[in-house]
Amino acid sequence: MATQRVAIYPGSFDPPTNGHLDIVDRASRLFDRVVIGVGRNLSKKTVFTADERVALMQEACAKLANVEVRTFDSLQVEFAREVGAMFIIRGIRALSDFEFEFEMANMNRSLAPDIEMVYLMTAPEYLFLSASRVKELVAFGASVAELVPANVAKALEAHLGQGGLRTGATESND
Ligand code: ADP
Repeated sequence: MATQRVAIYPGSFDPPTNGHLDIVDRASRLFDRVVIGVGRNLSKKTVFTADERVALMQEACAKLANVEVRTFDSLQVEFAREVGAMFIIRGIRALSDFEFEFEMANMNRSLAPDIEMVYLMTAPEYLFLSASRVKELVAFGASVAELVPANVAKALEAHLGQGGLRTGATESND
C-alpha cells in the first residue's frame, strides 16, 4: 500500500468558525488523513477550554471520515511528527496573515526541512471571518448563526448565559 499522505491543521480554534471548517473540508479532499490540532498551551487566553474546543470541532466535522481532532501543546513540527504527518496546513486570509505565516514557515523549515507547509487561500466569503470577530459580535449580542456551525453558536449562547464571554474564564491552568 502506498504511504498515506497525512497532514495536521493546527490552530487555537476558539471557537471553530465556518472559515476553519472550509479549510478542513478542502484539506480532507487533498490528504488521506487530516489531524486537527487544537493548541492547548497557547499564550492566548481562550473562551473555551482545549477540551471544549476539541469537542466543538469534532461535532462540526463528524461527517468527514478521514478527519480527527486532538489537542497539542508542543511545536507544530513536533505535533506533526507525533502523528506521522509530513504536511502542515494553514489558512491564509489577508496580507496580514501572510507575514505571520511566512515567519512561522521559515521557523518550521529550519526545525524540520522535510515537513512541508501547505497554505489554503480562504474562500472569499470567509475573508473577514475570524474567531475574535465572532466573539466580539456575540459579546454585543449580534447573531453569528451565519458565521459558525450550529453547535458552536449554541455553545457561545450558553457561555453568554453564564455571565458573558470573559476570555480565559474557563481555562483552569492560567
Ligand atoms: P492561530 O491562533 O494558530 O492562528 P486560529 O484558530 O486563529 O489559530 O486559526 C487557525 C488557522 O486557520 C490559521 O491558519 C488561520 O489563518 C486559519 N483561518 C482562520 N480563520 C480563517 C478563515 N476565515 N478562512 C481561512 N482560514 C482561516
